[in-house]
Amino acid sequence: MITARYLTKIDQVSQLTEAECRRLQQVTDRFAFRSNAYYLSLIDWNDPADPIRRIAIPDPAELEEWGELDASGEADYTVLPGLEHKYPDTALLLLTDMCGSFCRFCFRKRLFLKGNQELVRDISKDIEYISQHPEISNVLLTGGDPLLLSTEKLAKVLYRLQEIEHVKIIRIGSKIPAFDPQRIAGDSDLLRLMGEISDGDKQLYVMTHFNHPRELNDLAASTLKMVLKTGTKVCSQTPLIRGVNDDPVVLRELFNKLSYLGIPPYYVFQCRPTKGNFTFTLPLEQAYSAFVNTLKGCSGLARRARFVMSHKSGKMEAVGLTENFIIFRYHRAANPDEEGRTVVCRRNPEAYWFDDYEEIIELDLAV
Ligand code: SF4
Repeated sequence: MITARYLTKIDQVSQLTEAECRRLQQVTDRFAFRSNAYYLSLIDWNDPADPIRRIAIPDPAELEEWGELDASGEADYTVLPGLEHKYPDTALLLLTDMCGSFCRFCFRKRLFLKGNQELVRDISKDIEYISQHPEISNVLLTGGDPLLLSTEKLAKVLYRLQEIEHVKIIRIGSKIPAFDPQRIAGDSDLLRLMGEISDGDKQLYVMTHFNHPRELNDLAASTLKMVLKTGTKVCSQTPLIRGVNDDPVVLRELFNKLSYLGIPPYYVFQCRPTKGNFTFTLPLEQAYSAFVNTLKGCSGLARRARFVMSHKSGKMEAVGLTENFIIFRYHRAANPDEEGRTVVCRRNPEAYWFDDYEEIIELDLAV
């Protein structure tokens, strides 16, 4: 297996000048930097506003005070170290604090801070918890990026989950197809493992994370085809990020390219109010409008995405914007009684998150 060469210090990025490195050091002292030579090769270094650069290279604007480290209140749903159980049917296992590169806008950047203890070190208790909760039919492996675990370690987790009768879907949340496709394409054992897990009464999904169409080059596309050939399903999700994919032309190109590969665009997230993320975040109504404009010109297959906010209380889908109101519906709700509930708020162009809306009108719709 060919592994990527990782860079963990900003002065290892040879394309940056010494002065730039010094300036960015202050940012990386606060929010960790990590990337790899392959991903950095996608950057057009002549363009200071290059979207891939924006994803991977620190920006002094990250030091602007804003937001929280755990903007979606994940701590409230953590039932054991590394195990979150928010929706009855779904459990999240945080397996690693490593990623193929660190997205500057990461909503879980707290995992990359020194001393973070949120990961599963020994999964036995988590597996036991999942076994004892028959309502859990879906397990999402996340982090960090589970595809940075060795294939051997990943296999142990997958086999243990596969043995649990009521777990029908296992998802791997991964940006490795964008960050380092060779990690997958160069590892026949990993591809075989994916096929093995999908070949039975369970289904393996790779929930991948493409932010920009340039990430979806020939190497990434051929790698995704290899994954699909194993019988694994692939979906792609992305936050809407200022300067990366907030232009509907760009996001539409990404959606269309994904659909040509047979990969449904899944969620588009409102960027969470996470510390360091103000520079990447659009006001919610602006982001939703960009999303709606993106769908124009997409085929039905490319427009399967939903625009959602991962709020503490649930996944709130924005479903409409009128002159005076914005309409949300609970796509998933932490409290099952709220599932499907519609909430109408008076518009606030300054709102970045649901909590920024003051006047809330609740509609009790029949369905
Ligand atoms: S891939 Fe996901 S977890 Fe990893 S740095 Fe990016 S946003 Fe964070």
